[in-house]
This record gives sequence, structure tokens and C-alpha cells, in this order.
Amino acid sequence: MKTLGHFINGDHTDGGSSRRHDVFNPTTGDVQAQTLLASTDDVTKAIDAAAAAFPAWSKVNPQRRARVMFNFKALVEKDMDNLAKMLSSEHGKTLPDARGDVQRGLEVIEFACGIPHLQKGEYTEGAGPGIDLYSMRQPLGVCAGITPFNFPAMIPMWMFGVAIACGNTFVNKPSERDPSVPLRLAELMMEAGAPEGVLNVVNGDKEAVDALIQDPRVEAISFVGSSDIAQYIYSEGAARNKRVQAFGGAKNHMIILPDADMENAVNQLIGSAYGSAGERCMATPVAVPVGEETADKLVDMLKPKVEALKIGPSLSEDSDLGPLVTAAHRERVASYIQMAVDEGQELVIDGRDFSLQGYENGFFMGGTLLDHAKPEHQSYRDEIFGPVLQIARARTFEEAVALPSDHQYGNGVAIFTRNGDAAREFAARVNVGMVGINVPIPVPLAYHTFGGWKRSSFGDTNQHGPEGVKFWTKIKTVTQRWPEDVQGSDFVIPTMK
Ligand code: NAD
Repeated sequence: MKTLGHFINGDHTDGGSSRRHDVFNPTTGDVQAQTLLASTDDVTKAIDAAAAAFPAWSKVNPQRRARVMFNFKALVEKDMDNLAKMLSSEHGKTLPDARGDVQRGLEVIEFACGIPHLQKGEYTEGAGPGIDLYSMRQPLGVCAGITPFNFPAMIPMWMFGVAIACGNTFVNKPSERDPSVPLRLAELMMEAGAPEGVLNVVNGDKEAVDALIQDPRVEAISFVGSSDIAQYIYSEGAARNKRVQAFGGAKNHMIILPDADMENAVNQLIGSAYGSAGERCMATPVAVPVGEETADKLVDMLKPKVEALKIGPSLSEDSDLGPLVTAAHRERVASYIQMAVDEGQELVIDGRDFSLQGYENGFFMGGTLLDHAKPEHQSYRDEIFGPVLQIARARTFEEAVALPSDHQYGNGVAIFTRNGDAAREFAARVNVGMVGINVPIPVPLAYHTFGGWKRSSFGDTNQHGPEGVKFWTKIKTVTQRWPEDVQGSDFVIPTMK
């Protein structure tokens, strides 16, 4: 059985812990490897390596740091097929989705290649007589990223790409469910020219996370995962005066106004609700048609498309969606479908009994469609994170604005309409962090910034874009005064030697 350990100070290591976690192939249901779960000692060694690498790396000039990012980008592109296969076979998302996962991470690496410009400070000449002010953005030191199973390439790259480009050193604690891609990315970062210790990976669970939180040398933590753990990490980290951003769960809504191009809205909804088996924080698990006529039409148009979804092995190029990540997660999703039925929702299509011939032990689930979800239903309030679309019918535009605005999560929302005025009003008023107008999954590009509101985000600084540079650096402001009167002194203009 293959064992996946850690990557510390430029090398693979098994560390000292014997605790292990099974890594499945979700398509077959087989255990394909085991991850070693780091002990506090293993994490301390990773932090030692990052702390030792920091003084030299933080002094490397920004052009050279950018060059490492350019090299890394080229190496990841060259390794794309290998990374996508590795990712798909541990996560269960299809190969095109796996390539997308790598690609969206690479876009942040491209952004980080601009670090010489992004990290420039500000300067005010003549703020007073002989007084100038300047500010500089300095790296923080050892930084940590704790990442979820559902984007094992993109989210680590979002974090370490910007953090390392800013001159920090990094420890990534990926999900124990799909650890191979983060380990491979660390190898590629070394190959790209980052010195040993600049990027380390420790696999593990709560023990490893707590070790990162408790070590005073870790200056900043970025977390992405479920909300209860996000809140725990935010409060524990902040109590130790660390800089923390912690992104949590989601339940994104797609509003469909009566004037929308229904064919387009339905096609987009199918991709955003069921793509990647619904295991995306920017998936659209709730559709909000406005008016009964729109709702009935939506259900009629969705039904044949949900039934026609091609569910297959993750490595098959033909599959629209693959299996869920683990059997335990599939059970959880199935129990939410039952809860929705018990709460009175209409089960239009039930995906629970789906089984794929030849892969009967795989963690597959068919697309499920539920109608008449209501704000008081727990299955509507909670994140399900599976191939399940709930329809929450709204009578008016006001009700459609209220549903996502009043929901506990506020990651993303979309509106489909031809009416610019209604779209503009919706975008301005809705209490959600990322809004799509005729765009179902409004993930902002790398040079803008990603982050939700309410229980989707704890902390006040978003991922990547200028906010990312702000998160991974601290600002220092210098006020300098030089006497204007230089008469009498030997004033020699320095020359280049
Ligand atoms: P998770 O919360 O189970 O795990 C996330 C990370 O926390 C992993 O590294 C895991 O090992 C660690 N962890 C697990 N239990 C812990 C504990 N008790 N104490 C400390 N650390 C612990 O999340 P997941 O299932 O891997 O990922 C799916 C979740 O992530 C969904 O809720 C999804 O919405 C969310 N997500 C959010 C965003 C966003 O940007 N808001 C993006 C992607 C995923």
C-alpha cells in the first residue's frame, strides 16, 4: 500500500507519527493509499524549516521571487496531465474539472508573477518642510494554509502563491482525503528554484492544525473548509494575535426572473448545480424561480436534463460528473435528501439509488431534484455539498432578494434576467459577497478578490488580488526628515562604482 507522508525542508519524510488515514479511489471504492497524519513534532519540524528559510527568502529581491513563480507556472503546465489524473483519482471529479482546478490555481500564480509591482510601497514627497513619508509592505514570516478536499490544487496555490511571492515561507496542511497534489506542487516549487524550507507540506488532521495554531512562530493562517472549523480556527488564531482569514461553507442561490432566457439559465444551472458532483463552494444548490409560471417551466425543463446527466468514472472524458469523495460523504448527502422529503419537499428526481455498472462499490450518486424548499427547512439552511438541487419558489423580486440575503451563508449568488435595472438593483442590495449576473458561478478572476460574507467567511481580508497581497504582508510607514540647509557641508553626489 502506498504511503503518503510530508514534504519538509525540500524532502519527503514519513515523520514520527504512525497514525494513518485511508485515501480512496472514489470511482472503485478501493483504498489506494494511506496518508500519514502528522504529530505535533512533525509540524514543529516543518515550522523549523520554514523559520530557517525565512530570513534569506525575505531578502531575495522581488524580481527573483517573481522568476521562481514564472518557473513554477511553466513546470505545473508541463505536469498538467499528471496532476489532473492524480487529482481526479483521489477526489473523484472528472478530468476536465481536475484540469480546471489546476488552471484556476495557476491563474493566481500568474498574478503572483507581478509581485515586483504589487508589493511596491507608497511615497509622499514633501509632506512637510523637508519631510517625506513612505510605506512598505514587508512579509510576515512563517505562514500556514489549511486547505479542503474539494480543490486540492487551486486553493493551496491561491494561498502559497501569493504568500511566497511576498517573501514569506509556508506550511500547507492539505486535506487528508486527497493529499497527493499538494505534495507534488511542493516538489515543483523546489524545482522552480525556491530554496528548501520555503514551501513545506504536512499531512494530518486536527492535531496538525492545532500545532500550527499553537506555534507562536506561525504569523498568519489562511483556512478554507467548513464553517464550524473556520470559526474555530479564526477564534483560536486571533486569540493568539495571528493574522487569520477563514473561509467556510456555502449555499448559493440562482435567481431566475420571468424574463430570463430560460434555455440558457437551465443549461448554466445544470453545470453549476451538478458539476463536480456539487462539491464546489461556488456550486448552485438552490434555484429561485420568481413566479409560479417560471417555476413550473423551470422544473419541466430541468427534469430531462438531470435525467440525462452522464455519471461515470472520474477518469473518463465522457462523464459529466464522477463519484462523491467518500462513502461517508455520500451517506451524509443521502440523509439530507431524506430530511428534505421529511420536511415536505417534493422529490422530483431521486439520485440515491444510482449505481454504475462495473463500479458498484464506487461512491456514485445520481442527480437529485427537490421542489418547494422553504427557509424553515433545515435541509435548505444547511450545506449539502452533493449533486442535489433544491428549488425555493419566490412570489416576488423582493422575496428573491430576501432568500439569499437572509441565509446563514453568503458566498455567491447569481441572477438570470434580461432586465439591467433589476440586475443592478439585485447586485446592490443582496447580502452576499460574490454576485453573478447571467453568470452562474461568479468566481472572481485572480486579479480581483475572492471571499464570501456571513458564515462563509471569518476575518476581513479576501483571497488573492490586491487583498491577498495585503493579507500576506504587513505595512510599515516611515516618516523621514532631512534638514534642507546643506550649505557649508561638503555635498558630493555619489557616483556609481
Ligand atoms: P473540512 O472543514 O472538513 O476540512 C478542511 C480542513 O480542515 C482540512 O484540511 C481538514 O483536515 C481540517 N480539519 C478537519 N477537521 C478539523 C478539526 N476538527 N479541527 C481542525 N482542522 C480540521 O472541509 P472539507 O470537507 O475538506 O471541504 C469542504 C468544505 O469546504 C465545504 O464546507 C465547502 O463549502 C468549503 N469550501 C469553502 C470555500 C470558500 O472559499 N468559502 C472553498 C472551498 C471549500
